Amino acid sequence: MSGKIRALGLLSGGLDSTLSARILQEQGIEVLGLHFSTGFCVADRHRLIGNTNNPDKPYRNEALRAGADLHIPVELIDIKDEYLPKVLLSPKYGYGQGMNPCIDCRIFMLQKAKEIMDERGYNFVFTGEVLGQRPMSQRRQPMDNVTGNSGLEGYLLRPLSAKLLPPTIPEERGWVDREKLYGISGRSRKDQMELAAELGVVDYPQPAGGCCFLPDENYARKLRDFLTFRGTDVTHDDMMMLKVGRHFRLSDDVKVIVGRDESENTYLERFSQGRGEVWIDEFPSPLTLIEGKAAARDLELACSITARYSDGREHESVSVKWRIDGSEGQLRVAPVDDNALEEMRI
Ligand code: SF4
Repeated sequence: MSGKIRALGLLSGGLDSTLSARILQEQGIEVLGLHFSTGFCVADRHRLIGNTNNPDKPYRNEALRAGADLHIPVELIDIKDEYLPKVLLSPKYGYGQGMNPCIDCRIFMLQKAKEIMDERGYNFVFTGEVLGQRPMSQRRQPMDNVTGNSGLEGYLLRPLSAKLLPPTIPEERGWVDREKLYGISGRSRKDQMELAAELGVVDYPQPAGGCCFLPDENYARKLRDFLTFRGTDVTHDDMMMLKVGRHFRLSDDVKVIVGRDESENTYLERFSQGRGEVWIDEFPSPLTLIEGKAAARDLELACSITARYSDGREHESVSVKWRIDGSEGQLRVAPVDDNALEEMRI
């Protein structure tokens, strides 16, 4: 083989994928980063609504930031439309702790990477996976499973754990020097942080929090509820709505979503068409959206819940406004009792 060796890798912009790209760069390999957008990236929510946990932290796409730091091109690839039916709703290898189909997800992304490798003549694919780091997808057997099902047998290099895994074709053919790869395993990030300092990788996101909603138990509960009561005819807006607000199920047909702050209220306003709206004029209050055909009792409950989250929550009764299907009205209700509220919380 003549000419420069070219590799493409899954680049989240997290420490492990950034280090993996950097390790290969050190060996003179030309690197392209691929960043797949599944529709469940935490960054998408921050981009649309703001980072409610840390409002002062501006949104940045970590993959693009890592690419800029390493001086490598990064391609953002939108796989949302295929991801929902093919991966999320029918995972062959099941879900992890939440609704995260990590094994199917990795296989799907790596199949896409293989297509690009074949079409554009790249030599191999790499990832930032670390043996033993994640319970579902980064143990040896699932990693082998992912490799086999991706069609990349022999052509998938994991630079951080390579010395603990059988040599790949890039190593056997001398495209990559195996001696300069690593044998890191386990959940601790200590080795990676030391390596980052050694390789001059200084800006990377903290691992805590994750970059995907699907392993999050709160999100998973809302998604399971959605699939139970609404079925699998799902849109991206439906999935996005699950990332916003407090959700309460009032009946098999009716659910309400209560904004948690001003930015969520503003976001929810955009989805008021086809949904009922509930709010309070006399106190600062959330915007509550009603999904489904609300009976009189559901409307009253939605008003009580809204009152509970308003600044009038200590009052005996609060005047609450509503608008549904072009009709408008006002109800005076007591803020809902916290025990009753918890029973409805999704
Ligand atoms: S956490 Fe799992 S499901 Fe989410 S992007 Fe990562 S591998 Fe895919």
